[in-house]
Amino acid sequence: MKILVAVKRAIDYNVKARPKSDGSGVDLANVKMSMNPFDEIAVEEAIRMQEAGVAEEIVAVSVGPKQCQETLRTAMAMGADRGILVETDEEVQPLAVAKILKALVEKESPRVVLLGKQAIDDDSNQTGQMLAALLGWGQGTFACDVEVDGEQLKVNREVDGGTQSIAVQLPAVVTVDLRLNEPRYVKLPNIMKAKKKPLDTYSPSDLAVDTAPRLKLIKVEEPPVRAGGVKVADVDELVDKLRNEAKVI
Ligand code: AMP
Repeated sequence: MKILVAVKRAIDYNVKARPKSDGSGVDLANVKMSMNPFDEIAVEEAIRMQEAGVAEEIVAVSVGPKQCQETLRTAMAMGADRGILVETDEEVQPLAVAKILKALVEKESPRVVLLGKQAIDDDSNQTGQMLAALLGWGQGTFACDVEVDGEQLKVNREVDGGTQSIAVQLPAVVTVDLRLNEPRYVKLPNIMKAKKKPLDTYSPSDLAVDTAPRLKLIKVEEPPVRAGGVKVADVDELVDKLRNEAKVI
């Protein structure tokens, strides 16, 4: 069984995102970029499926500028067998990524496509769902446990107040949630080995995909600064403030 894993190069999760001064987007100048954290979990899960003998090959895919090669090398250092970069300097929205992944699925014929549940830069939570729809495949989203069972995939999903267990017919799309696993640290020798693993590059037009944006970003701005709190002397003052200042009771 072949697994395709989508890995996005995104703003590092430790970096505080700041809007550009004109509000036209997030300022990415001189900002540390890393693999989207949910995608690390997706890569880890693919490796565990390979280690368990249910997957033979893991192909990592990234869509974006040339620097996405680093993201793919990280995936390969973790254990992916090869990488595919679909290189573009244009903005690629979830629908465009889903179309590109569909084209690669048709080329590569994986049985499972693993993605993060969302990218921490755009927080769209759309790509996996759109890919499943375009392919006409079943999907297990927000996965916190995944098990191959013959021609099915058993997926436990994180839902409000607990987990939901579903069975999806293979081939299938799975988007992974935080509690699925803890990604391994990349060891130095594996970083060296990853440099020799195959990495193919395509352009969106090689795959006959139109990546034109369908959504227009209107404005990015900081959340309003929270007003400072005050200490109240007693319950009466608290009730008074809630009733007359906050007007919530
Ligand atoms: P989103 O729908 O943008 O929140 O992203 C959900 C998931 O889709 C991510 O966690 C990735 O696995 C995948 N994905 C989105 N954009 C890209 C991209 N440019 N390259 C590779 N994978 C992507």
